[in-house]
Amino acid sequence: MKPRTRHERRSSLLYSPKYWLLLTIFCLLAASIVVFLGRQYFTLTPTVEQRAEQPAQTMAPVHRDALDFHMIDFEQGWLRYSDGVMKTEDGGAQWLEAEASLPSEAAVGHEAVDETTLGMLGMSINQQLTSLMFGSKTYPVKQTQFLTDRIGWALVGEAGALQTPLLVTTDGGQTWNGEVTSAIRAAILAEKERLVQLKKEAALYASTDSAKAAIQSEWTLLPSTSAPGDVVLVRHNKPGKVEWLGKVYNLQPFGGGYFTYLPITMQAKPGKYPIGDQTLTIQAKKFETQYLKVTAEMESMKQDTARINADQKKIDLARSKSEPEFLFSGPFVKPIEGILTTPYGYTRYVNGKYDSAHLAVDLAAKEGTPIKAANDGVVALADSLYLTGNSIYLDHGMGLFSQYAHLSELRVKTGDRVKQGDIIGLVGTTGFSTGPHLHFTFWAHNVQVNPDLFWATTPFRWVEPKN
Ligand SMILES: [Zn+2]
Repeated sequence: MKPRTRHERRSSLLYSPKYWLLLTIFCLLAASIVVFLGRQYFTLTPTVEQRAEQPAQTMAPVHRDALDFHMIDFEQGWLRYSDGVMKTEDGGAQWLEAEASLPSEAAVGHEAVDETTLGMLGMSINQQLTSLMFGSKTYPVKQTQFLTDRIGWALVGEAGALQTPLLVTTDGGQTWNGEVTSAIRAAILAEKERLVQLKKEAALYASTDSAKAAIQSEWTLLPSTSAPGDVVLVRHNKPGKVEWLGKVYNLQPFGGGYFTYLPITMQAKPGKYPIGDQTLTIQAKKFETQYLKVTAEMESMKQDTARINADQKKIDLARSKSEPEFLFSGPFVKPIEGILTTPYGYTRYVNGKYDSAHLAVDLAAKEGTPIKAANDGVVALADSLYLTGNSIYLDHGMGLFSQYAHLSELRVKTGDRVKQGDIIGLVGTTGFSTGPHLHFTFWAHNVQVNPDLFWATTPFRWVEPKN
C-alpha cells in the first residue's frame, strides 16, 4: 500500500464522527469560559456611564417602605427604609446597603452647601412640595430637599410602579427624574462647580454684603467714582464687552461673573459715563509739576531711540498676555518703605524742557534695600533695560501688572511665580536715575495707573471716595 498523502489523512479525519463530537464539546466549553469571564469583568468594573445609566441595579426593591432621606452634599446621602438604610456617594447614581449608623454632616465634616454662598446668590431653597408630576402621574411627596435653587430631591409615596421612590430635579423642580443618568450627574457636578467658583469670587470682596451686592447685580463698578490716572474694576453677570474711551475691553470670566479693568487715562475728561446700567463719574484732579536737573550725559540718554525701541518691544511682548484670572487674594503691599520723592501724575520738566507725566511713584531708599512683590503673580519680565535699568514686570492676572525699575539686582527671572512679600530684587540706581530709588507703578491694560489706589487693599475692596 502506498503511503497516504497528507491530504488523504486529513480527509479521513474530517469524516470521523468522533472528531466532530470532540470539536463540538470543545467549542461549547470555550464559549462558556468566555461568557463567564466576560460577565465577571463587566460586573467588577462597570464604566461610569454604565453605573449612571443603571441606578436601579442596586436600588432597594420598591416594595420596601421608604421613610425618609437626607442628602449631605451633592455626592453623599442616605435613604431610610423600614427595614434598613441605603446610602449613595455619587448623588444617587448608585445606592448601596449602609451600616446601621447614618452618615451625617458631622461625619463628613461639612454642611450640605454653604449657606453664605446661597445667600449671596439670593437663593431660597426652602421649597417643600406636597405633590409632584412624574411621567403622567401625580405623586404625593413625603419629603423634599433642595441643595440649591436648581438641584433637589423628593421622596414620593405610592411609588409601587417606580424603580425608586426618590426623584431628582436639576431645574428647580420643573421636571423630575427617576434615575440619575450621566446627564443628570453632569448637571449636579456643574452646579457644585458653580458654587465653588462663586465662593472663590465672594472671598475677594471686602464683606459678605458687598459680595452679595455685586453677585446679584447686572453691572458693578468698583468704584463708580473715579479720577484721571485711576482704574475701575467692572463686573457683569453675563459675557460681553465694554467700550471705553475709544477702546473695547472684553469681559473675562472669573468666579460667578465677567470682569475687566477700565483704566482712566490722564486725558479722560471729567463727567458722567454710562457703563452697562451703571454710571461712572470721573472727577477733575489736579497734578503737580516737577522740575528736575540732570547732567548733560544723562539728558542725552533719551536720544538713543534704537535702544529704547528695542526695549519697548520686549516690554510690549511681556505685557501682551496676562493670566486669565485674578492671581491675588490678599491686599497689595508697598514694595519698600521708602521716602516718596515723586508722586504719581507729576508733570515733569527735565533741565527746563517738558519731559513727560511721571505715571509712577518714586520711593527713595538706601541702595540694596530689599524689594517685595506687591502681590501674588507671575514674573512677566525680569531684565536689564536701558532707561529703567534692571526692571521687573509682575503679572497679577486679568491685564494688571506691577512694575519695578532701577534695581541694583534682580532676584527673580521671567516666568517665576511669586507670592506677596517675596523679595524680588534690591533698590539701585541703574538706567535713567539720579540716585538710589524704586520707580514703581501699575499697568492696567497697558495704561499706567496710580499705585496709591492699591496700598493695603485690592480692586475688589475698592470703595467710593469720601468727599
Ligand atoms: Zn520714577
